[in-house]
Amino acid sequence: MRLLVVSNRLPVTVAERKGQIKFQKSPGGLVSGLSVYLDSLKSSSIIEKKYLWVGWPGVPVAEKKKKEVKEKLLSEVDSYPVFISEKAMDNFYHGFCNKTIWPLFHYFPSYTVYDEEYWETYIKMNQNFRDAVLEVVKPGDIIWIHDYHLMLLPMMLREKLKNPIGFFLHIPFPSFEMFRLLPGKWRARILEGLLGAHLIGFHTHDYTQYFLRCVHRILGYEHNMGKIIVGDRVIKADTYPMGIDFKKYNSAACTKAVQRHKKELEKTLGDYKVILSIDRLDYSKGILNRLQAYEAFLEKNHQWHTKVVMVMVVVPSRIAVEHYQEMKKQIDALAGRINGRFGTLSWTPIIYQYKSLAFNSLVALYSAGDVALLTPLRDGMNLIAKEYVAAKKDKTGVLILSEMTGASHEMGEALIMNPNNIEEIVDALEEAMEMPKEEQIRRNQVLQRRLEFYDVSKWAESFIKDLAALKEEQKRFHDKIMGPAARKLLIKDFMNAKNRLIFLDYDGTLIPFSKNPLEARPDKKLLRMLERLAADKKTQIILTSGRDKHTLQSWFGELDIGLIAEHGIWLKEKNKKWRLIKPLNSEWKEEIIPVLETYAGRLPGSFVEEKEYSLVWHYRRVNAEMGSLIAKELLDYLIDFTANIDIQVMQGHKVIEITDVDVNKSSAGLHWLSGKTYDFIMAIGGDWTDEYLFKVLPQNAYSIRVGMTQSYARFNLRNNAEVLDLLNRLVKKK
Ligand code: UDP
Repeated sequence: MRLLVVSNRLPVTVAERKGQIKFQKSPGGLVSGLSVYLDSLKSSSIIEKKYLWVGWPGVPVAEKKKKEVKEKLLSEVDSYPVFISEKAMDNFYHGFCNKTIWPLFHYFPSYTVYDEEYWETYIKMNQNFRDAVLEVVKPGDIIWIHDYHLMLLPMMLREKLKNPIGFFLHIPFPSFEMFRLLPGKWRARILEGLLGAHLIGFHTHDYTQYFLRCVHRILGYEHNMGKIIVGDRVIKADTYPMGIDFKKYNSAACTKAVQRHKKELEKTLGDYKVILSIDRLDYSKGILNRLQAYEAFLEKNHQWHTKVVMVMVVVPSRIAVEHYQEMKKQIDALAGRINGRFGTLSWTPIIYQYKSLAFNSLVALYSAGDVALLTPLRDGMNLIAKEYVAAKKDKTGVLILSEMTGASHEMGEALIMNPNNIEEIVDALEEAMEMPKEEQIRRNQVLQRRLEFYDVSKWAESFIKDLAALKEEQKRFHDKIMGPAARKLLIKDFMNAKNRLIFLDYDGTLIPFSKNPLEARPDKKLLRMLERLAADKKTQIILTSGRDKHTLQSWFGELDIGLIAEHGIWLKEKNKKWRLIKPLNSEWKEEIIPVLETYAGRLPGSFVEEKEYSLVWHYRRVNAEMGSLIAKELLDYLIDFTANIDIQVMQGHKVIEITDVDVNKSSAGLHWLSGKTYDFIMAIGGDWTDEYLFKVLPQNAYSIRVGMTQSYARFNLRNNAEVLDLLNRLVKKK
């Protein structure tokens, strides 16, 4: 087994020097973080390389060089390239990724560009990545796809492969109201694309919930504890906050290289209190808010003049996006204004560098910083916050962190603030500057322990472990689908039997679920099939339905079959009259109808059905999320309201049903089961109410649940078409 990591960028960038192909380490948290985990995999085997990284090599590569680059990447750095032309990169990376998804997912809808050409290229590039993976993948490889550039890839691979597929989103997943701003066709395709994965990971619980909510509202799939069932697949969305390589940052502070950099820094920073501000140039990082707050802090706190400096590192990024250029100008202007306004010949309040720092310089800066001020307006995680705390060998230093970052969810001991509130940032700065050393150490001790425990290797390990477990669960789930061998045996048993009893549910089993129950009448073909099946004297067919007896009588009264109506309240044996399963009363209905009517009024599209001894509230026609939300509320209310009345409240498929207590399909089924000995028993049902019947059937009976849900039944069939196919085969075999 190998791990195939797929991300937009490879861990190395290709460069050509004097005709020679060279590799440089690519920047970014994903590369440095994941590399630790991957290296640990490598050392665990001496025979097979255990991972391969698939991605873009960072630059356009000339046609004639592609073969050489590919071979060198494979042999030297376990990487496989996806070549992308400059033009495609413009529409893909600089276009759809960074002008559509990035701003929207970071809550900057006004910066979001909706461009059909970008979208088309996004699809094409995801296909490019798919083709590259297909070139190298082997059976059993685990595929782990990273980030917002490749959200369509999981489904594209799922259509071609059986391998376990995981996806991790490194940026926030936005709330439904934000996500829905994407054109309908795009947003559905993105969600479907992601659902191609077995496991979909997010940094925070909120992002996971927002995703699940979008899936429910847009695609209509409900979830149970993060698990979604689509067709015959189990998919899970869960939370895995990404950690850092704690040991590396924590031990680096003592290395000679870092000490050297630190000495250099001390010459410039002297006895100043140092406030650090480090980020990529990005509007999501709130750099302007930070500068405004620092200005307000200096305005309010004259005692700190000449005693504090802000070291501001802005790392150049996405220069092609105009909003970044605009922001750069504003940062330059504001930093200049603050220095001009407060600075003196011997004191510069802001030391500003527009460049990227290498690891040793960065760690030296972390350890020199008395305060780290991180004010993103929105950030998936924010690794700088974690790295800063980890690098504090003596555990001093104060982290001020925006509550809009994923990291703030795990770093409650930091000073957490809202970056939109300048006053709050100023307050936090004042508190940080005055915080006693013991208090700093107390807070950082807790933070460090947490960072050390859940480091980047743990993060990757727990994701991969869950992915493997999910693949197993999927297999177990899949094994219950009635395959050709089980069907063959069923047909053989059916043919050899002398006395057959067959229970068939109606809605969802013999016909698909319909938005309007009255429209779902049986067609001639179905009636003919039932008639032929029942024509054999050895076969007894019982139609088990939740519908009222009048409807069943008018639809099936002519057939030579038994009927169960209202989920078991009414029975009709062949050629006999309808009768109640036991004496029942329906007085309780008067009390319940007004409650159901109120809910039907509150939720347009839902309606109440009154049967003789039961009541049903249907919500199949309403918005999926609202429907299940109100259904839960109604269920709670009814359970409470009926605590002293002898009735039962059941939730079925988009219905809530209230019936007499102890009446269900099992009691009705037992009526037939106890009457005679059968050597072939089969029950097929697609609803929750059918589970009662499955439970009381003998072990060797063929119990079959329609649809892929957990069930007491021995087998599952995927849908109503498969049921009809099976029954038609039985008809032919008679
Ligand atoms: N970083 C760096 N050099 C710098 C500044 C930052 O290598 O001069 C690295 C830093 O160590 C961190 C990453 O860039 O791992 C930034 O990750 P973060 O999650 O904070 O922000 P992102 O840029 O991913 O939005």
